[in-house]
Amino acid sequence: MPPKPTSRLQGMYKLSPAERLAWVSRAAQMDKVESEALRGDRGLSLDQADHMVENVVGIFGLPLGIAVNFLVNGREVLVPMAIEEPSVVAGASFMAKLARDGGGFLAETTEPEMIAQMQILDVPDIAEAQQALIEAKPEVLAQANLVDPLITELGGGARDLEVRLLEETPAGPMLVVHLIFDTRDAMGANTLNTAAERLSPMLEAITRGRVHLRILSNLADRRLAKATCRIPSESLAFGKFSGELVGKGIVEAWALAAADPYRAATHNKGIMNGVDSVLIATGNDWRAVEAGAHAYASRSGRYTSLSRWRTGEGGSLEGTLEMPMAVGIVGGATQVHPTAKACVTLMGVQTGRELAEVIVSVGLAQNLAALRALGTEGIQRGHMRLHARQVAIAAGAEGAVIERLARVMVEEGTVRMDRAKQLMAELNKSN
Ligand code: NAD
Repeated sequence: MPPKPTSRLQGMYKLSPAERLAWVSRAAQMDKVESEALRGDRGLSLDQADHMVENVVGIFGLPLGIAVNFLVNGREVLVPMAIEEPSVVAGASFMAKLARDGGGFLAETTEPEMIAQMQILDVPDIAEAQQALIEAKPEVLAQANLVDPLITELGGGARDLEVRLLEETPAGPMLVVHLIFDTRDAMGANTLNTAAERLSPMLEAITRGRVHLRILSNLADRRLAKATCRIPSESLAFGKFSGELVGKGIVEAWALAAADPYRAATHNKGIMNGVDSVLIATGNDWRAVEAGAHAYASRSGRYTSLSRWRTGEGGSLEGTLEMPMAVGIVGGATQVHPTAKACVTLMGVQTGRELAEVIVSVGLAQNLAALRALGTEGIQRGHMRLHARQVAIAAGAEGAVIERLARVMVEEGTVRMDRAKQLMAELNKSN
Protein backbone atom coordinates (compact mmCIF):
# COMPACT_ATOMS: atom_id res chain seq x y z
CA MET A 1 0.00 0.00 0.00
CA PRO A 2 1.47 3.43 -0.88
CA PRO A 3 2.27 5.60 2.15
CA LYS A 4 -0.47 8.01 3.24
CA PRO A 5 0.34 11.33 1.54
CA THR A 6 1.54 14.07 3.85
CA SER A 7 2.59 17.66 3.38
CA ARG A 8 4.74 17.59 6.52
CA LEU A 9 8.46 17.52 6.03
CA GLN A 10 10.48 18.66 8.98
CA GLY A 11 13.80 20.29 8.20
CA MET A 12 13.11 20.63 4.47
CA TYR A 13 15.32 23.69 4.46
CA LYS A 14 18.30 21.53 5.42
CA LEU A 15 18.04 19.40 2.25
CA SER A 16 19.58 20.17 -1.14
CA PRO A 17 17.21 21.17 -3.98
CA ALA A 18 17.65 17.68 -5.52
CA GLU A 19 16.77 15.96 -2.23
CA ARG A 20 13.73 18.19 -1.77
CA LEU A 21 12.54 17.44 -5.30
CA ALA A 22 12.97 13.70 -4.72
CA TRP A 23 10.90 13.89 -1.51
CA VAL A 24 8.19 16.05 -3.07
CA SER A 25 7.96 13.82 -6.17
CA ARG A 26 7.64 10.75 -3.99
CA ALA A 27 5.04 12.33 -1.70
CA ALA A 28 2.94 13.46 -4.67
CA GLN A 29 3.65 10.28 -6.65
CA MET A 30 4.86 12.27 -9.63
CA ASP A 31 6.49 10.64 -12.63
CA LYS A 32 9.92 11.52 -14.05
CA VAL A 33 8.58 13.93 -16.65
CA GLU A 34 6.53 15.87 -14.08
CA SER A 35 9.44 15.89 -11.69
CA GLU A 36 11.75 17.28 -14.37
CA ALA A 37 9.16 19.90 -15.26
CA LEU A 38 9.22 21.09 -11.63
CA ARG A 39 13.01 21.32 -11.70
CA GLY A 40 12.78 23.30 -14.92
CA ASP A 41 14.70 20.88 -17.15
CA ARG A 42 11.54 20.07 -19.05
CA GLY A 43 9.90 23.37 -18.28
CA LEU A 44 8.76 25.86 -20.86
CA SER A 45 10.72 25.52 -24.12
CA LEU A 46 11.72 28.48 -26.26
CA ASP A 47 9.50 27.13 -29.00
CA GLN A 48 6.49 27.00 -26.67
CA ALA A 49 7.27 30.46 -25.34
CA ASP A 50 7.47 31.76 -28.91
CA HIS A 51 3.87 30.67 -29.43
CA MET A 52 2.66 32.29 -26.24
CA VAL A 53 3.65 35.95 -26.59
CA GLU A 54 5.25 38.26 -29.13
CA ASN A 55 8.91 39.06 -29.90
CA VAL A 56 10.22 36.26 -27.68
CA VAL A 57 13.98 36.21 -27.11
CA GLY A 58 14.20 33.94 -24.08
CA ILE A 59 12.63 32.54 -20.94
CA PHE A 60 12.61 34.30 -17.59
CA GLY A 61 13.28 32.13 -14.53
CA LEU A 62 11.96 32.44 -10.97
CA PRO A 63 12.70 30.30 -7.91
CA LEU A 64 10.07 27.60 -7.35
CA GLY A 65 9.73 26.70 -3.66
CA ILE A 66 7.35 24.24 -2.03
CA ALA A 67 5.39 25.31 1.03
CA VAL A 68 4.82 22.39 3.40
CA ASN A 69 2.45 21.60 6.30
CA PHE A 70 -0.74 22.70 4.50
CA LEU A 71 -3.93 20.95 5.52
CA VAL A 72 -6.89 22.33 3.56
CA ASN A 73 -10.36 20.90 4.26
CA GLY A 74 -8.64 17.92 5.84
CA ARG A 75 -6.47 17.23 2.80
CA GLU A 76 -2.66 17.36 2.81
CA VAL A 77 -1.41 19.75 0.11
CA LEU A 78 2.09 20.55 -1.09
CA VAL A 79 2.00 24.12 -2.35
CA PRO A 80 4.21 25.30 -5.24
CA MET A 81 5.21 28.96 -4.97
CA ALA A 82 7.06 30.85 -7.73
CA ILE A 83 8.49 33.99 -6.16
CA GLU A 84 11.67 36.02 -5.93
CA GLU A 85 11.04 37.47 -2.45
CA PRO A 86 12.73 35.77 0.52
CA SER A 87 10.73 34.63 3.58
CA VAL A 88 7.44 33.98 1.75
CA VAL A 89 7.74 30.20 1.34
CA ALA A 90 9.13 29.78 4.86
CA GLY A 91 6.45 32.05 6.34
CA ALA A 92 3.60 30.16 4.65
CA SER A 93 5.00 26.78 5.72
CA PHE A 94 5.47 27.87 9.32
CA MET A 95 1.98 29.35 9.64
CA ALA A 96 0.45 26.27 8.01
CA LYS A 97 2.14 24.27 10.77
CA LEU A 98 0.53 26.45 13.44
CA ALA A 99 -2.85 26.20 11.69
CA ARG A 100 -2.61 22.38 11.78
CA ASP A 101 -2.84 22.58 15.56
CA GLY A 102 -6.36 23.96 15.09
CA GLY A 103 -7.35 21.52 12.32
CA GLY A 104 -5.76 23.32 9.35
CA PHE A 105 -7.59 25.61 6.95
CA LEU A 106 -11.28 25.34 6.15
CA ALA A 107 -12.00 26.79 2.74
CA GLU A 108 -15.00 27.21 0.48
CA THR A 109 -15.87 28.83 -2.82
CA THR A 110 -18.96 30.13 -4.55
CA GLU A 111 -19.92 28.82 -7.99
CA PRO A 112 -17.30 29.94 -10.56
CA GLU A 113 -19.41 32.73 -12.04
CA MET A 114 -17.73 35.46 -14.03
CA ILE A 115 -19.16 38.75 -15.27
CA ALA A 116 -18.89 40.17 -18.81
CA GLN A 117 -19.87 43.81 -19.29
CA MET A 118 -21.57 45.27 -22.34
CA GLN A 119 -21.74 49.06 -22.42
CA ILE A 120 -24.76 50.40 -24.31
CA LEU A 121 -24.76 54.03 -25.47
CA ASP A 122 -27.17 56.24 -27.40
CA VAL A 123 -30.26 54.41 -26.14
CA PRO A 124 -33.31 56.41 -27.28
CA ASP A 125 -35.59 55.29 -24.42
CA ILE A 126 -33.75 53.93 -21.41
CA ALA A 127 -36.80 52.71 -19.45
CA GLU A 128 -38.13 50.88 -22.52
CA ALA A 129 -34.73 49.33 -23.21
CA GLN A 130 -34.38 48.13 -19.61
CA GLN A 131 -37.79 46.45 -19.80
CA ALA A 132 -37.06 44.90 -23.19
CA LEU A 133 -33.76 43.46 -21.90
CA ILE A 134 -35.49 41.85 -18.92
CA GLU A 135 -38.11 40.29 -21.21
CA ALA A 136 -35.48 39.02 -23.68
CA LYS A 137 -33.34 37.42 -20.98
CA PRO A 138 -34.13 33.76 -21.85
CA GLU A 139 -33.16 34.25 -25.53
CA VAL A 140 -30.01 36.19 -24.64
CA LEU A 141 -28.89 33.48 -22.21
CA ALA A 142 -29.65 30.77 -24.76
CA GLN A 143 -27.54 32.63 -27.33
CA ALA A 144 -24.67 32.97 -24.79
CA ASN A 145 -24.77 29.24 -24.15
CA LEU A 146 -23.92 28.57 -27.80
CA VAL A 147 -20.51 30.23 -27.36
CA ASP A 148 -18.84 27.34 -25.53
CA PRO A 149 -20.86 24.11 -25.82
CA LEU A 150 -18.21 22.18 -23.87
CA ILE A 151 -18.58 24.41 -20.79
CA THR A 152 -22.36 24.11 -21.02
CA GLU A 153 -22.04 20.33 -21.31
CA LEU A 154 -19.83 20.32 -18.20
CA GLY A 155 -22.58 22.02 -16.21
CA GLY A 156 -21.45 25.62 -16.67
CA GLY A 157 -22.84 28.29 -18.98
CA ALA A 158 -24.95 31.45 -18.88
CA ARG A 159 -26.71 32.01 -15.57
CA ASP A 160 -28.16 35.49 -15.51
CA LEU A 161 -28.39 38.91 -17.11
CA GLU A 162 -28.26 42.08 -15.04
CA VAL A 163 -29.11 45.51 -16.36
CA ARG A 164 -27.55 48.54 -14.69
CA LEU A 165 -28.20 52.18 -15.43
CA LEU A 166 -25.30 54.57 -14.93
CA GLU A 167 -27.01 57.92 -15.03
CA GLU A 168 -24.06 60.20 -14.50
CA THR A 169 -20.89 59.42 -16.42
CA PRO A 170 -18.55 61.74 -18.38
CA ALA A 171 -20.22 60.38 -21.54
CA GLY A 172 -23.76 60.85 -20.25
CA PRO A 173 -26.23 58.16 -19.17
CA MET A 174 -25.58 54.61 -20.29
CA LEU A 175 -26.81 51.09 -19.77
CA VAL A 176 -24.42 48.37 -18.67
CA VAL A 177 -25.53 44.79 -19.16
CA HIS A 178 -23.80 42.09 -17.11
CA LEU A 179 -23.73 38.58 -18.44
CA ILE A 180 -23.19 36.13 -15.57
CA PHE A 181 -21.53 32.98 -16.83
CA ASP A 182 -20.32 29.89 -14.97
CA THR A 183 -16.93 28.98 -16.42
CA ARG A 184 -16.37 25.76 -14.47
CA ASP A 185 -12.63 24.95 -14.29
CA ALA A 186 -11.47 27.75 -16.59
CA MET A 187 -10.63 31.32 -15.57
CA GLY A 188 -12.97 32.20 -18.39
CA ALA A 189 -11.76 35.54 -19.77
CA ASN A 190 -11.71 34.41 -23.39
CA THR A 191 -15.02 32.62 -23.09
CA LEU A 192 -16.72 35.68 -21.58
CA ASN A 193 -15.13 38.14 -23.99
CA THR A 194 -16.31 36.01 -26.91
CA ALA A 195 -19.81 35.77 -25.44
CA ALA A 196 -19.97 39.55 -24.93
CA GLU A 197 -18.98 40.20 -28.54
CA ARG A 198 -21.42 37.61 -29.92
CA LEU A 199 -24.33 39.04 -27.93
CA SER A 200 -23.79 42.64 -29.06
CA PRO A 201 -25.92 42.66 -32.24
CA MET A 202 -28.77 41.09 -30.29
CA LEU A 203 -28.50 43.68 -27.52
CA GLU A 204 -28.39 46.51 -30.08
CA ALA A 205 -31.59 45.20 -31.65
CA ILE A 206 -33.30 44.90 -28.26
CA THR A 207 -32.27 48.33 -26.91
CA ARG A 208 -31.99 50.28 -30.21
CA GLY A 209 -28.73 51.58 -28.76
CA ARG A 210 -25.05 51.16 -29.66
CA VAL A 211 -22.95 48.53 -27.88
CA HIS A 212 -19.49 49.94 -27.24
CA LEU A 213 -17.26 48.02 -24.79
CA ARG A 214 -17.64 44.26 -24.51
CA ILE A 215 -15.26 42.85 -21.93
CA LEU A 216 -14.93 40.73 -18.81
CA SER A 217 -14.91 42.41 -15.40
CA ASN A 218 -12.01 41.52 -13.13
CA LEU A 219 -14.10 42.44 -10.11
CA ALA A 220 -15.15 38.80 -9.91
CA ASP A 221 -17.33 39.30 -6.84
CA ARG A 222 -19.55 36.34 -7.72
CA ARG A 223 -16.55 34.04 -7.72
CA LEU A 224 -15.33 34.26 -4.15
CA ALA A 225 -13.01 32.05 -2.16
CA LYS A 226 -12.96 32.07 1.62
CA ALA A 227 -10.58 30.45 4.10
CA THR A 228 -10.68 30.35 7.88
CA CYS A 229 -8.26 29.05 10.46
CA ARG A 230 -8.04 28.82 14.22
CA ILE A 231 -4.73 28.82 16.05
CA PRO A 232 -4.79 27.63 19.65
CA SER A 233 -3.28 30.17 22.03
CA GLU A 234 -0.49 27.82 23.15
CA SER A 235 0.64 27.34 19.53
CA LEU A 236 1.15 31.09 19.18
CA ALA A 237 3.65 31.38 22.03
CA PHE A 238 7.34 31.70 21.18
CA GLY A 239 10.48 33.08 22.83
CA LYS A 240 9.53 35.65 25.39
CA PHE A 241 6.03 36.10 23.93
CA SER A 242 3.06 34.34 25.51
CA GLY A 243 0.30 33.00 23.24
CA GLU A 244 -2.05 35.61 24.62
CA LEU A 245 0.36 38.42 23.85
CA VAL A 246 0.98 37.21 20.28
CA GLY A 247 -2.76 36.83 19.62
CA LYS A 248 -3.48 40.29 21.00
CA GLY A 249 -0.62 41.76 18.98
CA ILE A 250 -1.99 40.20 15.78
CA VAL A 251 -5.54 41.46 16.33
CA GLU A 252 -4.19 44.97 17.10
CA ALA A 253 -2.03 44.87 13.97
CA TRP A 254 -5.03 43.81 11.85
CA ALA A 255 -7.13 46.65 13.37
CA LEU A 256 -4.86 49.23 11.75
CA ALA A 257 -5.33 47.60 8.33
CA ALA A 258 -9.09 47.49 8.88
CA ALA A 259 -9.17 51.22 9.65
CA ASP A 260 -6.44 52.72 7.45
CA PRO A 261 -5.85 52.38 3.67
CA TYR A 262 -2.12 53.17 4.06
CA ARG A 263 -1.71 50.07 6.19
CA ALA A 264 -4.37 48.04 4.32
CA ALA A 265 -2.38 48.34 1.06
CA THR A 266 0.69 46.74 2.67
CA HIS A 267 -1.41 44.24 4.62
CA ASN A 268 -3.12 43.08 1.41
CA LYS A 269 0.22 43.06 -0.42
CA GLY A 270 1.36 40.50 2.14
CA ILE A 271 -1.70 38.36 1.38
CA MET A 272 -0.92 38.65 -2.33
CA ASN A 273 2.67 37.47 -1.72
CA GLY A 274 1.16 34.09 -1.00
CA VAL A 275 -1.67 34.23 -3.52
CA ASP A 276 0.39 35.47 -6.48
CA SER A 277 3.21 32.99 -6.05
CA VAL A 278 0.78 30.06 -6.36
CA LEU A 279 -1.00 31.78 -9.25
CA ILE A 280 2.30 32.14 -11.10
CA ALA A 281 3.36 28.57 -10.33
CA THR A 282 0.08 27.23 -11.73
CA GLY A 283 0.11 29.41 -14.88
CA ASN A 284 -2.81 31.57 -13.77
CA ASP A 285 -3.35 35.24 -14.56
CA TRP A 286 -2.14 36.95 -11.38
CA ARG A 287 -2.87 40.46 -12.70
CA ALA A 288 -6.52 39.46 -12.99
CA VAL A 289 -6.65 38.22 -9.39
CA GLU A 290 -4.69 41.25 -8.15
CA ALA A 291 -7.15 43.62 -9.86
CA GLY A 292 -10.11 41.74 -8.39
CA ALA A 293 -8.59 41.64 -4.91
CA HIS A 294 -7.97 45.36 -4.63
CA ALA A 295 -11.30 46.33 -6.17
CA TYR A 296 -13.02 43.97 -3.72
CA ALA A 297 -11.07 45.50 -0.83
CA SER A 298 -12.62 48.86 -1.80
CA ARG A 299 -16.19 47.65 -2.17
CA SER A 300 -17.48 49.65 0.82
CA GLY A 301 -16.13 52.86 -0.76
CA ARG A 302 -13.05 52.79 1.46
CA TYR A 303 -10.07 50.52 0.81
CA THR A 304 -9.65 48.07 3.69
CA SER A 305 -8.20 44.73 4.77
CA LEU A 306 -9.23 41.62 2.86
CA SER A 307 -8.82 39.53 6.01
CA ARG A 308 -10.27 39.63 9.54
CA TRP A 309 -8.68 38.45 12.77
CA ARG A 310 -10.21 38.11 16.21
CA THR A 311 -9.69 36.40 19.52
CA GLY A 312 -11.90 33.33 19.77
CA GLU A 313 -12.74 30.71 22.35
CA GLY A 314 -10.08 29.93 24.95
CA GLY A 315 -7.89 32.74 23.70
CA SER A 316 -7.40 31.12 20.30
CA LEU A 317 -6.79 33.30 17.25
CA GLU A 318 -9.35 33.12 14.44
CA GLY A 319 -8.67 34.39 10.95
CA THR A 320 -10.78 34.72 7.80
CA LEU A 321 -9.84 35.74 4.28
CA GLU A 322 -12.43 36.27 1.55
CA MET A 323 -11.57 37.51 -1.92
CA PRO A 324 -12.43 37.04 -5.59
CA MET A 325 -10.49 34.12 -7.03
CA ALA A 326 -10.82 33.76 -10.79
CA VAL A 327 -8.51 30.81 -11.36
CA GLY A 328 -8.52 27.80 -13.62
CA ILE A 329 -6.84 24.45 -14.11
CA VAL A 330 -7.64 24.53 -17.84
CA GLY A 331 -7.27 27.37 -20.34
CA GLY A 332 -4.72 30.16 -20.63
CA ALA A 333 -1.20 29.00 -19.80
CA THR A 334 -2.30 26.39 -17.27
CA GLN A 335 -2.10 23.46 -19.69
CA VAL A 336 0.51 24.93 -22.01
CA HIS A 337 3.28 25.54 -19.49
CA PRO A 338 4.76 22.16 -18.45
CA THR A 339 5.88 23.44 -15.01
CA ALA A 340 2.44 24.92 -14.33
CA LYS A 341 0.85 21.60 -15.26
CA ALA A 342 3.22 19.73 -12.96
CA CYS A 343 2.44 22.19 -10.15
CA VAL A 344 -1.29 21.46 -10.44
CA THR A 345 -0.51 17.72 -10.33
CA LEU A 346 1.66 18.29 -7.28
CA MET A 347 -1.21 20.00 -5.45
CA GLY A 348 -3.59 17.17 -6.28
CA VAL A 349 -6.44 19.56 -7.08
CA GLN A 350 -9.12 18.23 -9.41
CA THR A 351 -11.15 21.40 -10.06
CA GLY A 352 -10.68 25.15 -10.35
CA ARG A 353 -12.62 25.59 -7.14
CA GLU A 354 -10.27 23.27 -5.23
CA LEU A 355 -7.33 25.27 -6.54
CA ALA A 356 -8.99 28.51 -5.37
CA GLU A 357 -9.52 26.98 -1.92
CA VAL A 358 -5.84 26.18 -1.57
CA ILE A 359 -4.76 29.60 -2.84
CA VAL A 360 -7.00 31.54 -0.45
CA SER A 361 -5.64 29.40 2.43
CA VAL A 362 -2.09 30.29 1.39
CA GLY A 363 -3.09 33.98 1.35
CA LEU A 364 -4.40 33.67 4.90
CA ALA A 365 -1.24 31.85 6.05
CA GLN A 366 0.93 34.54 4.50
CA ASN A 367 -1.11 37.26 6.16
CA LEU A 368 -0.65 35.54 9.50
CA ALA A 369 3.12 35.26 8.97
CA ALA A 370 3.41 39.01 8.41
CA LEU A 371 1.10 39.95 11.30
CA ARG A 372 2.83 37.59 13.71
CA ALA A 373 6.22 39.09 12.91
CA LEU A 374 4.98 42.69 12.85
CA GLY A 375 2.91 42.26 15.99
CA THR A 376 5.84 40.87 17.99
CA GLU A 377 9.53 41.22 17.16
CA GLY A 378 9.22 43.14 13.88
CA ILE A 379 9.58 41.88 10.34
CA GLN A 380 13.28 42.50 9.80
CA ARG A 381 14.74 39.93 12.17
CA GLY A 382 13.53 36.92 10.20
CA HIS A 383 13.72 38.68 6.88
CA MET A 384 17.27 39.96 7.18
CA ARG A 385 18.98 36.58 7.06
CA LEU A 386 17.37 35.77 3.73
CA HIS A 387 17.78 39.30 2.44
CA ALA A 388 21.47 39.19 3.38
CA ARG A 389 21.92 36.17 1.11
CA GLN A 390 20.48 38.09 -1.83
CA VAL A 391 22.77 41.04 -1.09
CA ALA A 392 25.75 38.68 -0.91
CA ILE A 393 24.83 37.13 -4.28
CA ALA A 394 24.40 40.57 -5.82
CA ALA A 395 27.89 41.45 -4.55
CA GLY A 396 29.30 38.45 -6.43
CA ALA A 397 29.40 35.76 -3.72
CA GLU A 398 29.01 32.13 -4.80
CA GLY A 399 28.55 28.75 -3.07
CA ALA A 400 29.47 28.63 0.62
CA VAL A 401 30.68 32.25 0.52
CA ILE A 402 27.03 33.43 0.23
CA GLU A 403 26.15 32.04 3.66
CA ARG A 404 29.44 33.27 5.18
CA LEU A 405 28.94 36.84 4.01
CA ALA A 406 25.27 36.81 4.97
CA ARG A 407 26.09 35.63 8.49
CA VAL A 408 28.70 38.33 9.01
CA MET A 409 26.36 41.07 7.77
CA VAL A 410 23.45 39.88 9.94
CA GLU A 411 25.68 39.64 13.03
CA GLU A 412 27.01 43.14 12.38
CA GLY A 413 23.52 44.45 11.62
CA THR A 414 24.77 45.97 8.34
CA VAL A 415 23.05 44.20 5.48
CA ARG A 416 24.19 46.52 2.70
CA MET A 417 25.72 46.17 -0.72
CA ASP A 418 28.76 48.34 0.11
CA ARG A 419 29.56 46.14 3.12
CA ALA A 420 29.04 42.95 1.09
CA LYS A 421 31.45 44.21 -1.57
CA GLN A 422 33.98 45.17 1.10
CA LEU A 423 33.75 41.68 2.63
CA MET A 424 34.16 40.11 -0.82
CA ALA A 425 37.26 42.21 -1.46
CA GLU A 426 38.75 41.21 1.92
CA LEU A 427 38.06 37.56 1.19
CA ASN A 428 39.58 37.73 -2.30
CA LYS A 429 42.67 39.42 -0.87
CA SER A 430 43.16 36.81 1.83
CA ASN A 431 42.78 34.05 -0.77
P1 NAD B 1 -9.37 29.54 -22.74
O1 NAD B 1 -9.65 30.60 -23.72
O2 NAD B 1 -8.19 28.68 -23.02
O3 NAD B 1 -10.71 28.72 -22.54
C1 NAD B 1 -10.84 27.57 -21.75
C2 NAD B 1 -11.36 26.46 -22.63
O4 NAD B 1 -11.22 25.22 -21.96
C3 NAD B 1 -12.82 26.64 -22.95
O5 NAD B 1 -12.95 26.92 -24.30
C4 NAD B 1 -13.48 25.30 -22.60
O6 NAD B 1 -14.23 24.82 -23.68
C5 NAD B 1 -12.32 24.38 -22.33
N1 NAD B 1 -12.53 23.45 -21.20
C6 NAD B 1 -12.15 22.16 -21.16
N2 NAD B 1 -12.45 21.60 -19.99
C7 NAD B 1 -13.04 22.54 -19.24
C8 NAD B 1 -13.53 22.59 -17.91
N3 NAD B 1 -13.50 21.51 -17.12
N4 NAD B 1 -14.03 23.76 -17.45
C9 NAD B 1 -14.04 24.86 -18.22
N5 NAD B 1 -13.59 24.87 -19.49
C10 NAD B 1 -13.07 23.73 -20.00
O7 NAD B 1 -9.14 30.15 -21.29
P2 NAD B 1 -10.00 31.18 -20.49
O8 NAD B 1 -10.04 30.62 -19.11
O9 NAD B 1 -11.28 31.52 -21.16
O10 NAD B 1 -9.12 32.52 -20.52
C11 NAD B 1 -8.03 32.68 -19.66
C12 NAD B 1 -6.97 33.54 -20.34
O11 NAD B 1 -7.54 34.78 -20.73
C13 NAD B 1 -5.84 33.87 -19.42
O12 NAD B 1 -4.65 33.55 -20.09
C14 NAD B 1 -5.95 35.38 -19.23
O13 NAD B 1 -4.68 35.95 -19.06
C15 NAD B 1 -6.60 35.83 -20.49
N6 NAD B 1 -7.33 37.12 -20.49
C16 NAD B 1 -7.63 37.81 -19.35
C17 NAD B 1 -8.34 39.01 -19.43
C18 NAD B 1 -8.69 39.71 -18.15
O14 NAD B 1 -8.46 39.22 -17.08
N7 NAD B 1 -9.30 40.91 -18.22
C19 NAD B 1 -8.76 39.49 -20.66
C20 NAD B 1 -8.45 38.75 -21.81
C21 NAD B 1 -7.74 37.57 -21.72
